[in-house]
Amino acid sequence: HAKEAGRDTYRFYAEQMNAEASEHLNMRNGLRLALERGEFVLHYQPQISLASGRVVGVEALIRWNHPELGMLPAGSFIPTAEDCGLIIPIGEWVLHEACRQAVAWQRAGLPQFLVAVNLSAVQFKRGELEKSVGAALAASGLDPALLELELTESVLIHDSDQVLATVRRLKALGLKLAIDDFGTGYSSLAYLKRFSVDKLKIDQSFIRDLGSDMEESAIVRAIIQMARSLNLTTIAEGVESEHILHLLRSLQCDVVQGAQVAMPMAADDIAAYIPGAGKMR
Ligand code: C2E
Ligand code: MG
Ligand code: MG
Ligand code: MG
Repeated sequence: HAKEAGRDTYRFYAEQMNAEASEHLNMRNGLRLALERGEFVLHYQPQISLASGRVVGVEALIRWNHPELGMLPAGSFIPTAEDCGLIIPIGEWVLHEACRQAVAWQRAGLPQFLVAVNLSAVQFKRGELEKSVGAALAASGLDPALLELELTESVLIHDSDQVLATVRRLKALGLKLAIDDFGTGYSSLAYLKRFSVDKLKIDQSFIRDLGSDMEESAIVRAIIQMARSLNLTTIAEGVESEHILHLLRSLQCDVVQGAQVAMPMAADDIAAYIPGAGKMR
């Protein structure tokens, strides 16, 4: 009986593994086709300066407009894209599309604001990143000073000479660098200096608990003070209430992003949103 049970267990796992493997293959094929068929879209989430009340940037966030499943969030397919390497062509598409859109907004007469693009660690490791970014800037004609790249601390932590060289070449293009999900990793002041970072995006987890948790507010306060002394801009993401917005203002955070301000939206809606943004204060 034990042997039979063992065999059944084995069969169960084997079937499960097959199911997972084929799901992965399906997903991989789906992503490849999605790229060919133009099913990816970028939504943009406004970033508001607390000092001026104006939109100073928008973060580009990828969605998969799936023919059957509808609009899928980034978290449901980006990890697979990273695993199978498709994040490279998908990431290039994101860069081109975000730069193209930023120029289109400028031509439509909108005020100047940054467009922020998320980069995966995989895009760094595969090299040639500065070529992709340079190509997107050249093809669109976007002023590099209006492009911001978001990377996580885990990219910098690897601290290989290759990463450092890539970051230097990216910065030499004249763009901005932001550290996403700041506070969740282990980057030190030394890293931030060495990589000539421009902005810290304080992770949502600290912002969410800001009102209720003394420790979290001490962390956010410390991050903002440190950033200030290093001449870095601070942005809080995941701002979900008026109360938290108020606290961030008293902590002298520079920029806010989150549901309380505006959800990610289609490019056309950004054009409609921005003229009214000055009223936010
Ligand atoms: P992230 O870069 O930290 O982006 C912030 C996420 O928080 C976004 O989720 C955004 O929609 C969500 N968010 C905004 N405001 C609020 C709020 O008030 N409360 C809460 N709870 N969440 C809020 P999204 O769009 O699903 O993206 C998730 C993650 O997927 C991103 O985290 C980023 O790491 C990744 N991602 C998105 N677009 C891209 C892309 O084009 N390339 C790469 N490599 N990664 C991407
Ligand atoms: Mg981000
Ligand atoms: Mg983040
Ligand atoms: Mg995140």
